Amino acid sequence: MSSNITNRYPHLSMMKHVKPILSLNKGQGLTFKFPSHYGEDFHVQVFFTGTTILVGYQLSEKWAYHIRYQEQKTQYEGKRVWFICPIKGCKKRVDKLYLKEELFACRKCHKLLYPSQNRSKYFLPMYKLERLEKKLKGKGRWGSPPPRPLGMHWETYERLAKEYADVYCEIMEKGEANIAAYGQSKMTKPPQHTDNI
Ligand SMILES: [Zn+2]
Repeated sequence: MSSNITNRYPHLSMMKHVKPILSLNKGQGLTFKFPSHYGEDFHVQVFFTGTTILVGYQLSEKWAYHIRYQEQKTQYEGKRVWFICPIKGCKKRVDKLYLKEELFACRKCHKLLYPSQNRSKYFLPMYKLERLEKKLKGKGRWGSPPPRPLGMHWETYERLAKEYADVYCEIMEKGEANIAAYGQSKMTKPPQHTDNI
């Protein structure tokens, strides 16, 4: 398994987690507990200093540093808030900061990929199937390719449809995990073997 996928790392989301502390008084904060997939559970304390967000946590070292943020007014009187990535030289405006190598930073700084960006490696056949569906301008069902799009030459369609069927077979052979990942988990008879690819 590749280790550079965003969802393998704990993250703080400004809008989901941290924004509420901006309406607290100075020096007040919240504690977030991160689940054990990083190793042991640990706690991150987040304080509002009045101008920055101070994060504190203990891993192999004790960490405390300030993270800047930026507010943006939205239509309908809403307010969007962003973290400014604390890594020197980055300062990207982001909603999520990921914890990797003991530091919170943006996805780019940590060289993380979204699961979908990794699909070409992980779920290669899935990715192919999606690409074929795009070309065929429709979704297939249970291994049948989408119908021929209006205006597509039969020859082209037949080639793509065959490719579609081949890729589908490939997916079936690689097991249930793949199918589930593709959102077709309601298969009545999933293949028996579920090796990881
Ligand atoms: Zn960054």
